[in-house]
Amino acid sequence: MPNVFFEAAAGKRKPYVDSLRKLLDQFCSPFDSGDSVGIKLHWGERGNKGYLPCDYAREIVAWLRARKVEPFIFDTTVLYSGGRRTAADSLKTAADHGYTSDFLKCPVIIADGADGRNVVSLPAGYRHFKTVQVASVFEQAKGFVIFSHFKGHMVSLFGGAIKNISMGFASRAQKQRMHADYHPVLHRKKCSRCGLCAAVCPTGAARISKPDYPVYDLALCIGCAQCIALCPELALEIFWNSDMKDFQEKLVETAAAVWRKIHGRTIVINALLNIVAECDCLPGANPRLHPDLGFIGGYHPVEVDEASLKMTGPALFENVHPGIPWRRQFSYAREIGFLGSPKSRLPKKQHP
Ligand code: SF4
Ligand code: SF4
Repeated sequence: MPNVFFEAAAGKRKPYVDSLRKLLDQFCSPFDSGDSVGIKLHWGERGNKGYLPCDYAREIVAWLRARKVEPFIFDTTVLYSGGRRTAADSLKTAADHGYTSDFLKCPVIIADGADGRNVVSLPAGYRHFKTVQVASVFEQAKGFVIFSHFKGHMVSLFGGAIKNISMGFASRAQKQRMHADYHPVLHRKKCSRCGLCAAVCPTGAARISKPDYPVYDLALCIGCAQCIALCPELALEIFWNSDMKDFQEKLVETAAAVWRKIHGRTIVINALLNIVAECDCLPGANPRLHPDLGFIGGYHPVEVDEASLKMTGPALFENVHPGIPWRRQFSYAREIGFLGSPKSRLPKKQHP
């Protein structure tokens, strides 16, 4: 049984649900009849144009239901202002993007709860994190489908399965611990003093008193990068508070701790469609970097991300996000044993 498999985006008509169905049929399902299975995905920030259409999630739900599994779809709240900061806002954004219980035929929930307090600490024991705090979803779900949109990202170079498990499961406090490695730095010559950075800053760290230039209070800055991402003049750059590799390692540590909890009962799918420069957390339409490729499936997030990056090549992302030590994600995953033995990367049903 292959560890990773690919199904090309076929047919002129999008969405490519037939291709996704063919990919799903290649999995050895780790789920038993009656299991409750959580589908982790990202339904796009308010105003984002690049997120995956809800048709794919509905296809996964139908595939699970055909196996007599009870699916639900979930995401977690985020640090920055916008349409996903609170559970109520995020569910509204989900519905605006078509991710409703009616359409999907399953519940849609925010796993860290209405106020972000439905969280649990998992043991980690790694260099940066001894424990990680994530949404408390493990009792609710016997298994998981990690369904990720593969695209670029300004601090991890690419966003796929590792990021979906790491930032995607993380509580807001854990997200903040991972984001603490950077803050914005202003290039005055480029700044038009429009004030957008101050308007979108969720903590009040970015402030502007026109006609002065904006200022950034680093004691309040949580490194959410929203100002950097949204500045229309590209006047803000990331200043790394620590070695740039630390962020990559923290991302991997959080994913690894979650994976210890869910491996063997989880399938992983990356959609290599609408491969854009930035993540779905940003509003607007981001530049498209590659034609649609299809779906990559497997039983381990590192294997699926490595296969995805091999298909696209890293250069298209490196051109827009230069200097990110993204390779550290894969080397560190091996160093800390995240990848495990080849046998452990298959679903438990395949183990002797
Ligand atoms: S968003 Fe950019 S251009 Fe506008 S004030 Fe902030 S730094 Fe300057
Ligand atoms: S100043 Fe800091 S907290 Fe405010 S938007 Fe920018 S990165 Fe986020």
